[in-house]
Amino acid sequence: MEIIHQLSHPAPVARKHSKLTRTRHFHPLIQCQYKPIVHFIHKNKPRSSSATGPVRAGWFLGLGDKKKNVVEMPEIVKAGDPVLHEPAREVRPEEIGSERVQKIIDDMVKVMRGAPGVGLAAPQIGIPLKIIVLEDTEEYISYAPKEETKAQDRRPFDLLVIVNPTLQKKGNKSALFFEGCLSVDGFRGMVERFLDVEVTGFDRYGQPIKITASGWQARILQHECDHLEGTLYVDKMIKRTFRTVENLQLPLANGCPKLGVK
Ligand SMILES: [Zn+2]
Repeated sequence: MEIIHQLSHPAPVARKHSKLTRTRHFHPLIQCQYKPIVHFIHKNKPRSSSATGPVRAGWFLGLGDKKKNVVEMPEIVKAGDPVLHEPAREVRPEEIGSERVQKIIDDMVKVMRGAPGVGLAAPQIGIPLKIIVLEDTEEYISYAPKEETKAQDRRPFDLLVIVNPTLQKKGNKSALFFEGCLSVDGFRGMVERFLDVEVTGFDRYGQPIKITASGWQARILQHECDHLEGTLYVDKMIKRTFRTVENLQLPLANGCPKLGVK
């Protein structure tokens, strides 16, 4: 899941960092230095430098230097690739500790942080396994307007790795907010999500875990768990709210439900 605030206020951020986005050291990620480990993705397509390069990085000033030495990372799979539209399979208990699964988890964390995003599911790097990672930080949140993060009940939480997550709603309260997805670059749509959820599963060491979440963290969990069923937010959104990132601030069309907690 993309960091929503990235595009809530695209213009001022872009202006503020417009100089820096053109400098060479601001090409930290997802450019040609990457050797994707997911070979079937975009095999014949030249790597694009548009949305994933300086434009994306520009608003996230300060991490360019830190991340520029990253040399190998899987690409983010985009909508249309069947892996995003089919259910993933469970990780077998004996697989969790394997070198392969541990590498997949490490890659997922790297890709999520590199994007940067607040959540990622394994199918988004082309791996049809039930694994999700998520994380939200003070820093990410500080970029968004306070009134927005307050309405969204968005609070920081440490990195979570969940293998074979099972999500259950707690109560019937829900909220409507715009969501984005790293696999549907450049767009947003309003999605209704439960406010409170509980997720059970296993951590990366195979230990059972249970997460009780509310607000924005609950939304991220629902978004990422949906990925494991082959569901993108566009499959669930209120269709008439779909828009480009540039149009995020435009008013909702007549007849659309209001943003916020229902
Ligand atoms: Zn997503």
